[in-house]
Amino acid sequence: MQITVLAGGIGGARFLTGLRQHLRAAYPDGNGGSTAEVTVIGNTGDDIRLYGLQVCPDLDTVMYTLGGGISAERGGGREDETFAVKQELAAYGAEPTWFGLGDRDTATHLVRSQMLAAGYPLSAVTEALCARWQPGVRLLPMTDDRVETHVIIDGDSPGTRKAIHFQEWWIRHRAAIPAHGFVLVGVDDAKAGPGVAEAIRDADVVILPPSNPVVSVGMILAVPGVRDAVREARGPVVGLSPIVGGAPVRGMADACLTAIGLEVSAAAVARHYGARSAGGLLDGWLVHTPAAAEANESAAADDAHYVAELTAAGIRTRAVPLLMTDLAATTAMAAAALDLAATLRPAATPGG
Ligand code: GDP
Ligand code: CA
Repeated sequence: MQITVLAGGIGGARFLTGLRQHLRAAYPDGNGGSTAEVTVIGNTGDDIRLYGLQVCPDLDTVMYTLGGGISAERGGGREDETFAVKQELAAYGAEPTWFGLGDRDTATHLVRSQMLAAGYPLSAVTEALCARWQPGVRLLPMTDDRVETHVIIDGDSPGTRKAIHFQEWWIRHRAAIPAHGFVLVGVDDAKAGPGVAEAIRDADVVILPPSNPVVSVGMILAVPGVRDAVREARGPVVGLSPIVGGAPVRGMADACLTAIGLEVSAAAVARHYGARSAGGLLDGWLVHTPAAAEANESAAADDAHYVAELTAAGIRTRAVPLLMTDLAATTAMAAAALDLAATLRPAATPGG
């Protein structure tokens, strides 16, 4: 069993902990692990160069989360983190001051930057970093080329526009400045990282986890060849909605959807990805419905009413609980995604 997941940071990484747990039970290797293999295609659009360091927040979130080094409280960055370097930089007046560069995290960025400077591609550097963390998945950056997500916002004088780095918009401005769109700077000259297209095409199942559809999964899909690889994937492609009851469960993904003209709903995200049978990406989709015990709380978000219309539109949709409140709930989500995949035959590939 080969599974390929297109992941951003926190949402993707949490989902992967549940997937790993499910696979240990469903495909045990007899040693507490699994015979199933998971390849994660990681978003590098969030990457930023700070003080000469190459910082890859989403790759690191996946690596630390699966490697047991994540800060559970902050969801990103290292546990037991300290910020002496950040404070010293601020004392020099060094910009930017809004990025939460932790001391432990800085060691990762130093090793990465040193290896990149020595000429290793990001994919090889990521593999080397993962040798320490043993995430139990093959973590592949979407590209070895330097790309950065920038956000188009209003310029300083009326009628003009400018672009700022995604991290500046997201962290410094808390996504509160209206955005007109997102661009992946450098994408025209970028190509998919080694093994990326093959991992998608040849997987038994491709999963779009509950990651940000615009700036996480959307940027992975923007790398030349990746979207086509998903369309041509041999196995079924299933996604899990990151939007529950009209809102992102954590974070500010609603601002990203609004910026590209989408409604903030599980159905709008599914239609944005599109049905593979109609030239899009998805064969199956999971939306949220509360667990039985919570079902009579009238205030509980429930997206089950989208099942019929999305299924009619060619995306086989099921409603299951999609809140990653603990490992058991997250594991059940992964099991539900693979259950749905098992009912799906892959769309006919062009010429196939
Ligand atoms: P980021 O790079 O750290 O923003 O992480 P991702 O792009 O991988 O995922 C972020 C998205 O995860 C958010 O926009 C949320 O919509 C989604 N998310 C977070 N927690 C949950 C959850 O418990 N359930 C679901 N369905 N989505 C979640
Ligand atoms: Ca991210």
